[in-house]
Amino acid sequence: MKKILFIDRDGTIIKEPEDEQIDSFEKLQFLPGVITNLSEIAKKCDFTNVMISNQDGLGTDVFPENTFFPVQNFIVETLKDEGVVFEDIHIDRSFPKENSPTRKPETGLLTKYFSQEYDLENSFVIGDRWSDVELAKNLNCKAIFITGFSDETELDKRNLRKYCALITSNWNEIYKFLNTPTRNVEVYRKTNETEVYIEINPDGDGQADINTGLHFFDHMLEQIAKHGSIDLKIKAKGDLEVDEHHLIEDVGIVLGQAFKKSLSDKRGINRYGFFTLPMDESLAQTAIDFSGRAWLVWNAYFKREKVGDMPTEMFLHFFKSFSDNAECNLNITVSGENEHHKIEAVFKSFGKAIKQAVEISGNKILSTKGII
Ligand SMILES: [Mg+2]
Repeated sequence: MKKILFIDRDGTIIKEPEDEQIDSFEKLQFLPGVITNLSEIAKKCDFTNVMISNQDGLGTDVFPENTFFPVQNFIVETLKDEGVVFEDIHIDRSFPKENSPTRKPETGLLTKYFSQEYDLENSFVIGDRWSDVELAKNLNCKAIFITGFSDETELDKRNLRKYCALITSNWNEIYKFLNTPTRNVEVYRKTNETEVYIEINPDGDGQADINTGLHFFDHMLEQIAKHGSIDLKIKAKGDLEVDEHHLIEDVGIVLGQAFKKSLSDKRGINRYGFFTLPMDESLAQTAIDFSGRAWLVWNAYFKREKVGDMPTEMFLHFFKSFSDNAECNLNITVSGENEHHKIEAVFKSFGKAIKQAVEISGNKILSTKGII
């Protein structure tokens, strides 16, 4: 399936003059960095470019074609020389008052993209007006909103901000954003004992949607999401009528598999994370290395058999299962008196340490072996 960049022209590729009509070369000025970055996007990313532009009254006396096309053709040719090719160029010629179904934000010119051939969910509209963001909404894709030419508060008035994947005035940032592979992954595992579905986004902001059937376990997993700023969706069912063991172990396994899958070849990540975190009288420390090898050091002892509905012996087992499947070294120590505080501090420090380890800070694989 093809992913599309639906790219606006005026205010996005070229600067928009006050009269909003580019009908002479004197008015032509490219946005800073647009040519270089569109060229890099063409080389490094897997998108098909489509230009989509409203040109009010094109072909009428107020905007004759012979004042539009010389500049338009120059723009297209200049970009083509840098490897930026538009598969399609769609120009609506209507005036706003006509409310034409072909005029952005309507999708009348773009109906062909509503097909199995195109991956609209992972496509973007790049533009500088609220109508570009609304077009993204209507196409069921996301918007990249370029600031500086129109009123950004329109996004709030029209409740459109949530459709923006990126808001920026800088084309370098657009390239960086599009060239960063998404690390959202999902893993589903079903056995005779449990059924576990996990979706993670290490680049998230801490959204948690967790249901394992064990309330205290849910509360602990939520700490990873919230304090690690990792989006975490976990839906698990298991043979709790036997006991809690299989379910907790299998969530650890699948969560580890999800991180292994998400981090892929681990290019650019910090690799290491360490965090010491107090919670009242307790002190927890987690150190993690996504080394490609599994090891767990566990210095945590609990006096009670259970905290809430979770057996304390399963804390170790959860982290062991995670370490084995994420293929990471995990070193956890906790001291304190209150069992609830102790294990909650562990999960919080674990979330913080993971976030530090998985953050992208370069583009090298951090190992003298060349692979992790
Ligand atoms: Mg525009």
